[in-house]
Amino acid sequence: MTVKTRFAPSPTGYLHVGGARTALYSWLFAKANQGEFVLRIEDTDLERSTQPAIEAIMDGMKWLDLAWDEGPYYQTKRFDRYKELIQKLLDEGKAYKCFCTAEELEAMREAQMQAGQSARYNGMWRDRNDHPTDKPYVIRFKNPQEGSVIFDDKIRGKIEIANKELDDLIILRSDGSPTYNFCVVVDDWDMGITHVIRGEDHINNTPRQINILEALGAPVPTYAHVSMILGDDGKKLSKRHGAVSVMQYRDDGFLPEALLNYLVRLGWSHGDQEVFSVAEMIEYFKLEDINKAASAFNTDKLIWLNQHYLKTLPVERIKEELKWHLVDQELDISQGPELDLVIKAQADRVKTLKELVEISRYFYEDFAEFDAGAAKKHLRPVAKEALETVKAKLTALADWQEEAIHAAINDTATELEVGMGKVGMPLRVAVTGAGNSPSLDITLSLIGREKTLARIDLAINFINKRENS
Ligand code: GLU
Repeated sequence: MTVKTRFAPSPTGYLHVGGARTALYSWLFAKANQGEFVLRIEDTDLERSTQPAIEAIMDGMKWLDLAWDEGPYYQTKRFDRYKELIQKLLDEGKAYKCFCTAEELEAMREAQMQAGQSARYNGMWRDRNDHPTDKPYVIRFKNPQEGSVIFDDKIRGKIEIANKELDDLIILRSDGSPTYNFCVVVDDWDMGITHVIRGEDHINNTPRQINILEALGAPVPTYAHVSMILGDDGKKLSKRHGAVSVMQYRDDGFLPEALLNYLVRLGWSHGDQEVFSVAEMIEYFKLEDINKAASAFNTDKLIWLNQHYLKTLPVERIKEELKWHLVDQELDISQGPELDLVIKAQADRVKTLKELVEISRYFYEDFAEFDAGAAKKHLRPVAKEALETVKAKLTALADWQEEAIHAAINDTATELEVGMGKVGMPLRVAVTGAGNSPSLDITLSLIGREKTLARIDLAINFINKRENS
């Protein structure tokens, strides 16, 4: 048997972290078993499904590199197939036309409520033949009335639901459109899905879907229902908790490697290992190791993982992801140091790619003014001599490289009989505009001689003005 899983989003919004985790688990399970992963767009809700949402979901999956082997299939393109099978069930007496009006259904519900029962369709058309010819109708599935549905959920264990709890589900609406549960069943069957991994919000649908599969003579796949993701306040994860769209994490400067690693651990574990390459996830992934309890989102941990990957991924890889941020923040890097070198100097100094671009601007652009706090502290009259001396030494350097730059700064401190900080800090503020940067030899070598000297002049002017005001 070839393992086949699917991710079946309803395209009513972006790909959120819960959906991405479900997709990841389905994808991993397929990969871990040399199987296939299908993408199916469940767009039968015509009012709520949109093309931008379809694109947003696919963009999210592409960014996370969760490639599908088959699809995307679209349910709206498969209506003929659903209707064919509904007709088959009708012909075999496994489904029936129901002519109940909205008023009748309402009356049924009210009577049940008054009797303290839960509202359900009472089967009033289940065995009738006196069909009117001019009235609208829906088609309902004849759910078995005896016995129970039992399935072994790979995460939750054995689940048993008595058939008398389930009423006769509408499978075709009066406007001729098939309903959600029916489409899912037909698709899972036609697409050869062996393992259905999905959110626990679908667990109530599963017994109904199993009954329909059996009526169709289709094999029943294995089910695994994944628990919810909660916010750090214990409530269901929502926009209130900040970013929930996968692409928002991209925009905020997270690496897909970090988000994937974060998501895999959100509800799944392998011993106490925290950091997983994708190859390791595939190697160790088992449905049985998915946690039954809900998991809480923890942004600090995601940031920690992002920092880990910023430090450890090859520069080439970081560069690929950084490109989007350069465009987003409109930083032109065509003039200035090699981006690789800037990444090497900065990657372990930031939490996100967004920040990496923010703090690397001075390598490529002149800044409009010195940071007020840093200038107040470091660009003072006493710093003038240090800046002038170091400027002279830097001007005289034969080669503009780290070691020589380092020596020039050192020699300045020695000559003026001051600590390194008395030279270094004013110099740092002079060339970067503020008080934070990698070591000065690296920083200056990347900024280049011409810009360095010009910026030192600006700083000296700044001090002169300050002295005279
Ligand atoms: N379309 C459903 C959803 O987005 C998923 C259905 C399923 O996985 O069976 O929630």
